[in-house]
Amino acid sequence: MSKSTRPLYRPTVPANDIVVVGAGPVGLWTAIQLKKRYARANVIVYERHEAYQRSHVLRVDHWSLLLYGAFNRQPSEQAFYQDVTGKSVGRVRLAFSRSRYIRTNDLETALRAYASREGILTVNRKISSASEVQALHPDCTAFVAADGAHSALRRELLGPDAVTRHDLQRVVELKFETVNEPRRLNWWQAWQLNRRLPYTVTEHIGRKKGETVPVTLRLLIDKDTYDSLPEMSFKAPLPLGHPALPPSLRDSVAVYLESRARMPEVAAVPASFKLSKLPLQLYAAKNFAVLRGSRAWFLVGDAAMGVPYFRALNCGMLLGSRLAMLVGRNGGLAPKDLPRLVARFERRRRIHVAIEFGIARVKDGVLNLFKSVRAAAASAQS
Ligand SMILES: Cc1cc2nc3c(=O)[nH]c(=O)nc-3n(C[C@H](O)[C@H](O)[C@H](O)COP(=O)(O)OP(=O)(O)OC[C@H]3O[C@@H](n4cnc5c(N)ncnc54)[C@H](O)[C@@H]3O)c2cc1C
Repeated sequence: MSKSTRPLYRPTVPANDIVVVGAGPVGLWTAIQLKKRYARANVIVYERHEAYQRSHVLRVDHWSLLLYGAFNRQPSEQAFYQDVTGKSVGRVRLAFSRSRYIRTNDLETALRAYASREGILTVNRKISSASEVQALHPDCTAFVAADGAHSALRRELLGPDAVTRHDLQRVVELKFETVNEPRRLNWWQAWQLNRRLPYTVTEHIGRKKGETVPVTLRLLIDKDTYDSLPEMSFKAPLPLGHPALPPSLRDSVAVYLESRARMPEVAAVPASFKLSKLPLQLYAAKNFAVLRGSRAWFLVGDAAMGVPYFRALNCGMLLGSRLAMLVGRNGGLAPKDLPRLVARFERRRRIHVAIEFGIARVKDGVLNLFKSVRAAAASAQS
């Protein structure tokens, strides 16, 4: 079917509907929280892909599911908490400081089921601009941009220079498969490994997939080495033998593999090696809410800000819950109520960014301290 003949989804919506663009975990979570806090709204989510594209493991803190969250004790709520945490809401509350690792696809499946049970409609459609979605919903006054880190809506709504960024660390990731199920390194083995290498490294062993187990090695490298690396991204990784890789990196991987073949043994599949690089950054949009005539747009999730060290999703969920709480308290989404809501969400932005950047900087400081201790131990040894 050609694009021009594809039927458009044109719901006949009364005022006070809320439209979310992006059905990633934060978009869905925000939609659910909005529906719970503001039950008379129709919440509609647009998503360009039928199947969620990310494929990795996420750490979800129980606290992120609880703080500012709305609870109605309905079976759909219980089913969601059971799916994601393996516990009832009551037990999650008792273990509020715990975390849970979950695959992106499993989290998405649980959120989609929860959203659908709450009566939220998810429509598969790529949104090309804010004006397009506004035209689709002429009576809707509140829109949420949850279209991820490379948010086109953020660029359109706030301009190209609307994000402040700070680099924390530079990371090279080596992903590979092993044919055995290796044991995790204990802290002493991890320390011994770190002492032998010129870079600080961390290792993550995933869950068995078919016949093999995925392993991710993260090397925190210096800026000069990072800048000398060729392009190698998550989507377009390089093989380990690529001639443009600096010898220091190849040697470090060789030392790691040689050590790892003896410690709790890893039997790596050579053809599975994939290298990518990424900077660990803090970033935040200069505004999280903006008025466009008589409509308001709100940014949540990676579209609004990003923090490293297993926090980004958690930070996005907290922001989504907070937005829902403010909408619930605002008492309405009529055009006259929107400036107050936008101002409140902007005040929240400053507090949220200060807290999340603070947490990330403390974690980064601990990591830098470890790097200095490791470097001192390595030079004392040589
Ligand atoms: C390797 C890795 C490990 C991570 N580990 C953790 C962790 O342990 N803990 C943690 O808290 N965070 C972690 N994160 C970060 C976490 O994955 C993100 O913060 C989270 O996925 C952000 O969710 P989101 O919904 O804001 O954006 P996304 O997940 O990017 O979803 C955005 C959605 O919007 C859709 N979309 C985009 N444009 C349009 C459009 N024009 N029209 C319609 N739909 C559109 C996309 O298709 C996508 O489905 C990790 C990230 C990576 C890469």
